[in-house]
Amino acid sequence: MALLNKTFNGYKFISFINKGGFGAVYKAEKDGKAHAIKVFHEEYILREFKKHGEENNRLQREIDIMKSASHKYLVKYVDDFISEDETGKSYFLVMEFIEGINLREILDKDEKLPEDRSLGIFKQILEGLQSLHNIRGEGSDRGIIHRDLKPANIIVQENGEIKIVDYGISKVIDFTSLTSTGDIIGTGPYMSPEQITDSKHIDKRSDLYTSGVVLYEMLTGYFPYDFQYQPELIEKIRNDPPIPPRRRDIAISNKVENIILKLLEKNPYQRFAKVSEILQAIDLLTKPIEMKHNDLSPKFYLRLYTDKTVLEEFTKRNSKFGNVVFPANLENVSACKGLLENIKKDSNITIIIDPATVRLAYPAYTETKGVCELPYTPENYEVITPEYLKEYSKQQEYVKQVLDKQIELEADILLSPFHYTHNSSTGYGPDRNPTEEWFDLDCKLTKESVDYKNAQYSEKEIYMGVCIRADSLHDEKTKKYLLNTFSSLDTDGFLIYADCIDNDTKEVTMFHYVDFLIELQKWTQKPVIAGRVNAGLGLGLLSFGIAGFTSGTARFESFYEDLYKESGPAYNMYSRYYFPELLTTVAISRKAQTKFDQITSALGICNCYFCNGKDNPEIVKDKNAHLHFLEIVSNDIETLITLSRNEAITRYLLQINTAIENYDQLKGVFKTDEYSFLYKWKNIFTKLEEKHYV
Ligand SMILES: [Zn+2]
Repeated sequence: MALLNKTFNGYKFISFINKGGFGAVYKAEKDGKAHAIKVFHEEYILREFKKHGEENNRLQREIDIMKSASHKYLVKYVDDFISEDETGKSYFLVMEFIEGINLREILDKDEKLPEDRSLGIFKQILEGLQSLHNIRGEGSDRGIIHRDLKPANIIVQENGEIKIVDYGISKVIDFTSLTSTGDIIGTGPYMSPEQITDSKHIDKRSDLYTSGVVLYEMLTGYFPYDFQYQPELIEKIRNDPPIPPRRRDIAISNKVENIILKLLEKNPYQRFAKVSEILQAIDLLTKPIEMKHNDLSPKFYLRLYTDKTVLEEFTKRNSKFGNVVFPANLENVSACKGLLENIKKDSNITIIIDPATVRLAYPAYTETKGVCELPYTPENYEVITPEYLKEYSKQQEYVKQVLDKQIELEADILLSPFHYTHNSSTGYGPDRNPTEEWFDLDCKLTKESVDYKNAQYSEKEIYMGVCIRADSLHDEKTKKYLLNTFSSLDTDGFLIYADCIDNDTKEVTMFHYVDFLIELQKWTQKPVIAGRVNAGLGLGLLSFGIAGFTSGTARFESFYEDLYKESGPAYNMYSRYYFPELLTTVAISRKAQTKFDQITSALGICNCYFCNGKDNPEIVKDKNAHLHFLEIVSNDIETLITLSRNEAITRYLLQINTAIENYDQLKGVFKTDEYSFLYKWKNIFTKLEEKHYV
C-alpha cells in the first residue's frame, strides 16, 4: 500500500520513519498535529485474532486495552483504523509523535552509559512497565505484557525522559509469518527463556527479564551472552548462566550486578515478582533503609474440631498460644458452640478460617454438618464444578461471599477459596484444557480474591489456599510450573494441602514435596504453611525453615482428599498419643493400654505439665492426650525459635536418629515396617540439607 502524501482517515502521511519486522512507521498529520502511525498488513496477524471474521472482536479488544495505557513514560496509542486494498487489509495504529532518538541509536554511538545514567533510564523503563502491567483488562486478567522491549523501542527525548513504544503489539502478531524477514519471535538477545520455549504463556516477569538485558547492555555495551549465531544464542539463553556484568566492567557496583543477575534468572519464580520489588531494590542502593521482612518464624496452626475444653484449658496456661485454623462449617455445629467466640476474645490467637470450599466439590457435603448453611454453598445440593463457576460474574460473587464470611468470623488471615486436586492428575501445564480443570480456576479465584481483598479489606493479609497432588511435584517441569504460577499470584503467603503426605508416602514424593515448599518460600520470601501434616514431619518442616504447618490434636493427621467425602466424625475406639521420642502419634486402644505401658516403660513417662503426676489411664484419655500434644509441639517450637537454621536442622536429624533407636528398643511392640518412614525422612532431610543449606 503506497501511503506517502496520501490521506487515510484524516491522517496525511508525510514521511517514513522506520521499518520493523512486521510493519512500518510513518509520520502523519491530522488537524495540524503530528502523529506516528504503525502500519501492518493482515497477513501478520495471528489467526486466533482473525477468526472472528469481519467484526474482529478479539483484535479490537486487545487494541482497546493497549489504548487505555497512559503514563508519562509510555507513548500514547490514540487511534486505530483499518484500510483495505487489492492486497488485503492493513491495520493502522496511531500514536502520539515523540521527538527524540532511541536508545539503540544512543548505544550504537556511545557503546555504554555510566551507571547513574543507566539507572536513571532503567527506572523510567520500570515505571512505564509497572503502569502497563497494572492496566485493568477484562475479567481477572489484567495488565499488558510488553513482549518486545528493546533499546530500539525506547525513545529518549531531549529532556532526558523516555517513552516506551510498541508495547503489547507482538501479542497479536504471528511470528511464523515473519521467517522470511529473518526476524524471529521477540528480538534475539532480549528474549526471555520462557519466550523461547512457550511465547504464548509468558507472564509479566518475562518483561522483567528483558529489562535486565537492557540494563546489562546499557552498563556494559554487551549482551549477557557471547554468540555468533542465533541457535547458539537461543541455547545460551535457555541453559547458560549469563556472563556477570562485572566481568565486562569491574566499575559496575556489586549491588547493581546482583539486581541484574536476579532479573536474568532462567525461571520466572527466581526473579523479582513485580516491578515494585526492583524499584525497591534500586532505592536500597542509595538509601540503606531496613527492608520490611515477612515473618517467617516457625508457627503451629491447630486445626480445630471439637476441641473446646482442650483449647480453653491450654490457652489458660499458655498465653503465647498461638494460631488456629477453624473450618467455617463448624460455626453452628453444637459440639463447637462457643469455641470460635472464645478464640476471638483471645487477641493472642491468630485465626485462619478454612472456608470449607473443598467440600463443595463433593456430593457428600450435603451430609457434613454446617456446610449447607454457608452462604456460598449452592442451593438444591448442586455440586460446585468449573462449569458452575464459569461466568466471571459468578466467580466474583463467589469470591466475595467466601471472603466476606471469613471477615464475619473475624479471620486474621484470609484464604482464597480452593477446591479439587484429583482431576488435575493429567499434570499441570499449558497443554491442558483449562475449562475442564480446577487448577486454573483456583488460580483465577486466587487472583480475584487478592483484588477483592485489596479493594475491601486492604489491611488484611490473604494467603493462597490450594490443594495439589503430591506426586505432581515429581518432574522438574511441573514443579517449576507450579512455582512460577503460585509466585505470580501476589498473595501474602500460601497454605498448601498435598494429597497425600503421610507415613506411607514414597520417599521420592516426600522429597519433592518438601523441596517444593522450601523453594516456594525461599524465592517468594512469603510464609508457606503445610496443611495437615503430622507433627513429627511438621516439626521437621519448621526446622528446615518452612513457616508453618497445620494439624489437628489427634484426628486426621494428614491431608488426603477423600477426607472430604466423609460426612461426619468416624467412631474411633482408639486414643492417639504423641510420643516426641518416636516423632509419631501412636493409636492406643481405649480398652487395653498395654501398648502405652510397654512404650512408656522403655522410654519413660512424659513429664510435661499435663502428663506429670497422672497415672497411665488418665494420660491417654483424649483430653489429656490432646493437651499433651499441644504442650509438646508448643515447647518444641519455642526451642526452634532460639536456634539457627543449621542448629535446627542438626537437631532434627538427631531426633530422627534417636527415634529410630527408640523404635529399635521396642521391637516387641512395633514391627520394623511401622517405622520405615523414619528412614525415608532421614534420607530426604539429609539430601535437602545438602541441597539447600550446605
Ligand atoms: Zn505430656
